[in-house]
Amino acid sequence: MRPSHLYPLFSPIENLKSVGNNYAKKLQKLGISRVIDLLWHLPVKLQDRTYMPQVSEAIVGHMATMKLQINAIEKAPNPKSPWRIFASDTTGQMTLSYFRASPAWIEKTFPIGEVRVVSGMLDMYHGQLQMSHPDYVGSVADLSHIARLMPVWPLTAGITNKFMQQLIEQALLRIDMIEEWQNEAWLKQNDFPSFQEALHKLHNPDDMTYMEPSHPFRQRLAYDEILAHQLALRLIRRHMKSKSGIAITSQGQRIQQAQSKLPFKMTNAQYRCIDEILKDMAQPAKMVRLLQGDVGSGKTLVALMAMLQAVEAGYQSCLMTPTEILARQHLSSLQAMTAHMDIEIVILTGREKGKKRQEILDKIQNQEAHIIIGTHALIQDDVIYKKLGLAIIDEQHRFGVQQRVNLLAKGEYVDLLVMTATPIPRSLMLSAWGDMESSKLDEKPAERKPIETRAAPQDKIMNVVEGLKRALSSNQKIYWICPLVEESEKIDLVSVEERFEMLKQILGEDHVHLIHGKMKPKEKDAAMEKFKDGPPSVLVATTVIEVGVDVPDATIIVIEHAERFGLAQLHQLRGRVGRGDQASHCILLYKAPLNPVSKERLNVMRQSNDGFLLAEKDLELRGSGDILGTRQSGMALFQFTDLSSHKDLIYAAADDIELILNKDPQLQSRRGEALRTLLYLFEKDAAIHLLASG
Ligand code: ADP
Ligand code: MG
Repeated sequence: MRPSHLYPLFSPIENLKSVGNNYAKKLQKLGISRVIDLLWHLPVKLQDRTYMPQVSEAIVGHMATMKLQINAIEKAPNPKSPWRIFASDTTGQMTLSYFRASPAWIEKTFPIGEVRVVSGMLDMYHGQLQMSHPDYVGSVADLSHIARLMPVWPLTAGITNKFMQQLIEQALLRIDMIEEWQNEAWLKQNDFPSFQEALHKLHNPDDMTYMEPSHPFRQRLAYDEILAHQLALRLIRRHMKSKSGIAITSQGQRIQQAQSKLPFKMTNAQYRCIDEILKDMAQPAKMVRLLQGDVGSGKTLVALMAMLQAVEAGYQSCLMTPTEILARQHLSSLQAMTAHMDIEIVILTGREKGKKRQEILDKIQNQEAHIIIGTHALIQDDVIYKKLGLAIIDEQHRFGVQQRVNLLAKGEYVDLLVMTATPIPRSLMLSAWGDMESSKLDEKPAERKPIETRAAPQDKIMNVVEGLKRALSSNQKIYWICPLVEESEKIDLVSVEERFEMLKQILGEDHVHLIHGKMKPKEKDAAMEKFKDGPPSVLVATTVIEVGVDVPDATIIVIEHAERFGLAQLHQLRGRVGRGDQASHCILLYKAPLNPVSKERLNVMRQSNDGFLLAEKDLELRGSGDILGTRQSGMALFQFTDLSSHKDLIYAAADDIELILNKDPQLQSRRGEALRTLLYLFEKDAAIHLLASG
């Protein structure tokens, strides 16, 4: 249960002075329904109300704060006209005007003969200086409070900035009783303010630099957010680990059998990763591990070895992929690698239907199938595994959190391995999963040559096509990628088909194939097969080939509208070539002019083949959503944290949490208690429930 000293913060917004039902509804539109929501509702700019002219020198069109004597009030002659208030200072006269004002309010606010301070935008009406609906009206005593840099909060119809300010002031009164959860020495060392001070200052900034990620006020809040998030993840992971899973061990006979027939030598990195994974599987706790390896680093083989371990131990394994093409490709490569063994591998995708599907479901249910490969069809309700011990997810960023959870729910003690070719910088990994174990395939098979990348404007397309002619005659295979933007799928389809027709005309019917997401599965297979096993040709494709497709003798990839792709995606696409021992090329066609970000992206692509470096760059250029697949999963990222500027804080939090939990595993010390408050404030209640009650 939330501790009672936090009730005032989590109480409904109606709890504040002057918020009725009506305002509450309006505030809801801003995502504000509780007092605490106001605290997180930071101003977005500063309005300068320090300009205090005399009437005679006041400049129309400026925001001004003025000290005026009220001389007379003129009632609105009709509902369409305003109330007018005549006012002056020693240098001249002006008017204030109000439409639809209540007479009582006007009289109370503007007592004749007195001096008032008003602040608002100056305009001109019938040749006279006017301020229409001043934003602020007060007494002379309020002058210093009004004539300043005024923060402006995000607003909605019916909620004025002034009202928002009043609410925020009330909310800020409710944080005094909160105890510091950060390490005092660390705060000092970093010159960080207290939580309270940070919020006060961010809501009353003297300077907009307060909002910048590098400013101590903003950093303090970001650090709180990061710490809360990571601490919660850590507690959840600790809990998962403590639940007993199964120890999957074997003599390693299956693995040896498979290794004995490989047509190549495994890389050291493959040996190491396999070893790490097997050790983890052998632990009774559930495995949750990430296998990161750049495109072409040979993850499939590592996955196979892990699956064979489970099979020998008497369990089933499954491998889930984001696309059907990829599933089929895994099926054929795994079947090839295990052809000499009695291992039953089945596939289940949207294409298996009716009787065929039932047969497969039966095999899964009676464990005739040892290894099950498929798309998200694998998590449908009627897929019942007899004894699932290991679940592997390929290209994890394509799946949402819920799909991962559903897959794990298919067995009681399932070990999980997620594989990704989109390298995830450690900072991001920490922030997304806490400290998940990870294995890294940081070495590519030896004979690979680097891919040479160049960029060219779209109008050089005919030169490129000429080049392809030569390439085809020297027996090379070529991918030609056209982008597919979800919103305009139809238009893009036309562009793929047009490109297909054009290339056919130039290069000849037999040398060009087409594949895109809207084709029937059979047609897709046929195209893929012709490209893979047939004579040299060009495969015109949308990004359906982005993930994982493996045609080792493809050596050229042309990417049209490369400026539309993110770095990670470009790198994935490029990874389709350079898989064999021949030199490979990637040609990025772009539409000029390039915006600075796209330009930078293409430059980085030309300069680097290193997926990890590219991922860090990608994060800088674009933010984190795509890398983590958060768009698909809808996982909320951070409010105050900027993953590229706050990297150091992410690492610091990881270390801090290590220390905290070592000393006080159940968060029961004084600081532990304060940290519980932090978790509540950032609504990580689920994690707190995993602690012993404090
Ligand atoms: P990815 O990591 O991108 O999923 P794959 O597992 O598809 O890579 O492997 C890419 C290609 O490299 C495949 O053709 C695979 O057979 C081959 N391969 C894997 N390991 C090695 C190795 N140690 N030596 C040579 N080729 C390998
Ligand atoms: Mg792969």
